[in-house]
Amino acid sequence: MENISIGIQKSGRLSEKSLDLLKESGIILANGSRKLLSSSRNFPLEAVFLRDDDIPQYVFDRVTDVGIVGENVVREKGHDLQIVERLGFARCRMSIALPRSVDFGSLDQLNGKRIATSYPNILETFLAETHVDAEIHVISGSVEIAPGIGLADAIFDIVSTGSTLISNGLKEVEVVMESEAVMVTNPGLSPDKQEILEKLLFRIRAVRKSHDHKYILLNAPNDRLDEIIKVIPGMKSPTVMPLAEEGWSSVHSVLNENEFWEIIDRLRELGAQGILVIPIEKMIT
Ligand code: ATP
Ligand code: ZN
Repeated sequence: MENISIGIQKSGRLSEKSLDLLKESGIILANGSRKLLSSSRNFPLEAVFLRDDDIPQYVFDRVTDVGIVGENVVREKGHDLQIVERLGFARCRMSIALPRSVDFGSLDQLNGKRIATSYPNILETFLAETHVDAEIHVISGSVEIAPGIGLADAIFDIVSTGSTLISNGLKEVEVVMESEAVMVTNPGLSPDKQEILEKLLFRIRAVRKSHDHKYILLNAPNDRLDEIIKVIPGMKSPTVMPLAEEGWSSVHSVLNENEFWEIIDRLRELGAQGILVIPIEKMIT
């Protein structure tokens, strides 16, 4: 039986969530991430622990079949890879930031200026598209200190909460791209490997879906049942069972996290009682 190999960040912001995703997909890896390789004993998969920057190249060269890496890194490296799944974690954006003291009007202001970054390719493409002629200074770390020490007039870097910018006296003026962790592959896997990948993706999708859904149980007075059911559509439609107490029913359904609080408020207005909300472990639709 063939194996699929997956490149995972050895240690960093993506590591834990990548391993959690495999774990929640029921894939058990032998003794963690301290080695270069780790095979699963219950799924035809082998994890290869790498620096995140190397993952696109490894996947492109077919050293590993798939990889989990930030979309920003995929774009920066520029290999023609296929994103098979967006994973929703390690969300951030890549932005241009200026010293807070500089008035910002438009991107034209960057003409002739020096921009420090660790992502020269994404920046170069963006500057070309927006017809800005700036000088790109590549530095490998701590980009945010470059303006303060006179190395650059602006930076182009990862932003998540923005607190790093603020503590370095910078302000975000232009979002160039949004990023999240993605699973990538180089198309053209063998049919066996493709089949394993489909199985893996099926599980990952079930796990991800379960994360943003909740199971809800509540007691509803029968005279408001129709209205209550309209508020909670459920996967198909809610399950309704009579309670031992006359005139009341138990309603079970699945709610999306996004609309969760709004629906709960509505249900209380309609007289629902004893509302229980339970996490869903897997969700297969
Ligand atoms: P490695 O040692 O593997 O090269 P690294 O230092 O380059 O690690 P991390 O800092 O672990 O990488 O970040 C990995 C990815 O996490 C980034 O490429 C980006 O996609 C994402 N990310 C999300 N939020 C942030 C953030 N606030 N700072 C940095 N990266 C973030
Ligand atoms: Zn890195």
